[in-house]
Formats: sequence, structure tokens, C-alpha cells
Amino acid sequence: MKSQLMEMLQARKEEIIAIRRHLHEYPEISFKEEKTAQYILDFYKGKDVEIQSNTGNGYGIIVTIKGGKRGKNIGLRADFDALPIIEEADVPFKSKNEGVMHACGHDGHTAYLLVLADCLIQLKEHIPGTIKIIHQHAEEVPPGGAKSIVESGVLDDLDNIFGIHLLPMGEAGVVGYHAGYSFNGRAYLKLKIQGRGGHGSSPHLANDAIVAGAHFVIAAQTIISRRLSPFEIGVITIGSFDGKGTFNVIKDSVELEGDIRYMTNETKETIEKEVKRLIKGLEEQFGVTCEYTYANDYPPLYNDPGLTEKVAQYLKNANDEHIKEVKEFPAMAPSEDFAYYAEKFPSCFFYIGCTPKGVEKPYFNHHPKFDIDEEALLVAAKAVGHVVCGYYELD
Ligand code: MN
Repeated sequence: MKSQLMEMLQARKEEIIAIRRHLHEYPEISFKEEKTAQYILDFYKGKDVEIQSNTGNGYGIIVTIKGGKRGKNIGLRADFDALPIIEEADVPFKSKNEGVMHACGHDGHTAYLLVLADCLIQLKEHIPGTIKIIHQHAEEVPPGGAKSIVESGVLDDLDNIFGIHLLPMGEAGVVGYHAGYSFNGRAYLKLKIQGRGGHGSSPHLANDAIVAGAHFVIAAQTIISRRLSPFEIGVITIGSFDGKGTFNVIKDSVELEGDIRYMTNETKETIEKEVKRLIKGLEEQFGVTCEYTYANDYPPLYNDPGLTEKVAQYLKNANDEHIKEVKEFPAMAPSEDFAYYAEKFPSCFFYIGCTPKGVEKPYFNHHPKFDIDEEALLVAAKAVGHVVCGYYELD
């Protein structure tokens, strides 16, 4: 079946690219992907599969491909939301939805998976198990779509889940993998510090919220440098400090917002505990009162080491002209809600190089000029196809 699948994918390369270009022209932001979902549903019309739409907290679509025999069940996931970014990439299929752009490659994820799914549907008699195609909405904005899809129970019969991400960290043909913790988990902090306003000349009659806030910003960095082991990874970024006022008036309150990242669940707990302790200490030290929200959203993404090793082997043994190099990639600083699948099912999320040809310094995902080498789409389809064939031991 493997050679047949690869030939089918190869023959549909231009179709994958055409689908990607269509999706690229009509991007929709997270939780509002109504037309994208309809496009996906239309693609499956008349095909011999079971479809569940509006899965989870949005437009998620699950396509169930029942194989000819019973066996292990797997999920293949691609996300389909875009970002509120004004596209600056110089491409003929530029976004037609003002202010919205597929700047993370989710258009490519969906395009390759649609065609791969169609090929698997045609070859399903050979597959010893059920494959669920997970077309996931809203990856970019917490709470994301993945968590709710997992919680809906629709995936409960799966053994493993696989997914890929297009990354400009190698040319088309490079496939990357990373075992264990692979993407950071994330928390959001909002802190309101309430002091007491007053005359700029008379600090003793007031309680300066700006000074307390400034102290917090600096002290938070000591959590990373003094509370984490040198081998732990954590980031605290206070990206917003709303202290605008008048030069000669002592500010009565400030509001801060921060982005917190961590690579393991242990680090997650340490940072949360220490941030809360700092806030408590701030009240003590400065006599202010603090109100805050501390919300962990996407967990760290953990690639099952055994499964990842197998994926790497399937790809290294692929003997496929389009898969030129299979290598270990570093862990990634951003967060990815594929982590929710990986929390529940041993999973592997791996990477497809897509650096445009001849570009030395590619624009990374989420940049208004983000662009991919569309050759990478066939690589994605074939790589995931090889993983499916390897998993089911199909020659
Ligand atoms: Mn993404």
C-alpha cells in the first residue's frame, strides 16, 4: 500500500498547493472559521466516511476512516485557523480578508491533510485500524480548540495522535523531530496594584503604585534567575504596564499583564507559586493591595519518546526522494495546543521544513511576511503517510 499511497500523493501535489492557496486567500481568525470549516466539509461530500462537525467549542471536524480490519486507532491532526495580521507577503494569492492572515502555515497543514485523508479513504481496506482525521479550529487563541475536542470524548478510542507543523527551520525536504518536552506551556498574568494617589510633591501622603509595579517587574525576573535550576527553562515577560498618568500626580493604581512560559510541569508549578508569593510580598512591602488573574492555558507539549523514536525511524527508512533529511530539532519556545492531545494519548508532533528557496533569513511563523516553499506540502503529506504506513506495518 505504501508505494501506492506515495504515488497517489505525488500525483495530487498541484491539488494540495491549490487548496493551500485557496485557504490562504480566505483566512479566518480563531473561533470564527465558519467558511473554512464549510470548505473542509464540502471536500468530504460523497466520500465514504463518518463526519462529525462542530466538535468541541467551535468548528472542529472529525473524519473517521474505518479500516478494513480492526486494530490500533490513530488520530492525524491539522489546525485551520489564521491570525489577526495584515499580510505583507508578496504572493499572488495574498489574503483577501483584510487584517487576517494565515501566518502560521495552518493553511498548509489543512491542505496536505485533506488530500492525504482522501487517499487513505480510497485505500482504507488495507488499513488495520481506524484513522480519525482531526481538523481542528482555534489553535492560536486560548482556550484553543484541542482541549474541548479531547474533552468531548470523540477521540477516546484512539491509541496515538500525530501532527506536524510547518517551520522555516530547514528547506523543503527537511523533517525534524524532538522527543520529550518540545513546546513551552504557557500562563497569563494580569495584576492590578492599588496604592493611593496624591500630589507629586508629597509621597508621604500617598502610596505610589508605579514604584510598587516597577519593583514587581524587576523582582519577577529573579524567579527565573534565582528560583529555577540552571537546567530548567522558564520565561516571564511583562508585556504591558499601564501606568499612564500625569507627571506631577502620584499614580493610585497600575495594571500589568504578563506572558509566562515553561518547558515542564515542575517549572510550571514553581513559577506559579513564586509569582503568587511575590504578589503577596508586594502587598506587605509596599502596603498596596493586589488583585490578579493567573491562568495556565496550554500545557507543555510532551512528545512520547518511544513513539517519537519510531516516527524518526519510519522517516529515516522512508527511502523517499522528497524526504531529504530527517534530524533532531531543538525544543521550541512557543506554545501549541497539540499539547492537550499529547497529555492524554502518547503522541508525536513533528516538523516540516518550509524555508522558501534561496532565502537565508526566512521570516518566522506569525510574521506578516511569513511565507513557505510549497514543495514542503507534498513533503508533509508523504512524511505523515510514511508514519501511517510504518505504524501499521504496511509495505
Ligand atoms: Mn501554529
